[in-house]
Amino acid sequence: MMRLLLLAFALVATAACAQEPVAVEEGATGTPARTMAITIDDLPVGRGHSLAHQQRVTRDLLAQIASADVPVIGFVNEGKLHVDDQRDARVDLLRQWVAAGHPLGNHTYGHPSLFNTPLADYQADVIRGEPITRALLAERGDSLRYFRHPYLNTGPDLATKQAVESWLGGRGYTIAPVTHDNAEYLYALAYDEAAGDDSLRARIADAYLDYMDETAVYYEALSCQLFGREIAGILLLHANALNADHLGRLAARFRARGYAFTTLDEALEDPAYASEDTYAGRAGMSWLQRWAITRGVGLTPEPTPHDWILALTSS
Ligand SMILES: [Zn+2]
Repeated sequence: MMRLLLLAFALVATAACAQEPVAVEEGATGTPARTMAITIDDLPVGRGHSLAHQQRVTRDLLAQIASADVPVIGFVNEGKLHVDDQRDARVDLLRQWVAAGHPLGNHTYGHPSLFNTPLADYQADVIRGEPITRALLAERGDSLRYFRHPYLNTGPDLATKQAVESWLGGRGYTIAPVTHDNAEYLYALAYDEAAGDDSLRARIADAYLDYMDETAVYYEALSCQLFGREIAGILLLHANALNADHLGRLAARFRARGYAFTTLDEALEDPAYASEDTYAGRAGMSWLQRWAITRGVGLTPEPTPHDWILALTSS
């Protein structure tokens, strides 16, 4: 059985990167064929729900992460913490992440898009998003080292993009890129709206896992096209009920594709991340797509979410 499974993985890997077949047996020889760092945005919880909901999502998401045994990093919007009479309880949600050993990064205070926010205002929002996260990390002997742009928008034009990059670097930040961008947030929205309907929620979760498999195929192929190999992957997810209930299954899907999970630090050791990226504009997208645009490589359309998910979330 194991032999058949490994053969299946080998065929997948070979098909994805025909010029460079890769060993896929994790822990056998060398490094695993596929690696992925999981990044989770919009902490403590994506949408503005009640404290009780945020506590439930945080507890169950951290439990899923622990039982799946995957390293993760969370990106915080401190603006979500400042709710009258609930500030300490909401800060405690972040403390649970740090206590579980997970690093945290800055995702701005109020989640503005750099596309339509003046540079000085954006910088002020980054600074405003620092103090609580920095203090929590310091309690554990860690520091605030990563920044993730809201909407993955890195700037409306190249001058702004480069100004922000340079300024963030001067403040001690590494910008956290994404390879495996996706529309997980739409499945999560449908899942939230289906609260109370367990059978619909189960369908949404199954569709989510299938969709994420499709996006993996897309980015594996794009990485091969650009680099002749699958570079260390970085997956974008969000703190939401969907992942609080199903992140373990998602991790299992990726493991079934031959992925081993790494930290963001480890992923960024891949020299591919030093590639030139001159993309600027409205769209937030994968760094693989940015590098393709920079090199003038034509892009095929990325996988779209299920039509019925789009219909559920269009109103
Ligand atoms: Zn976000």
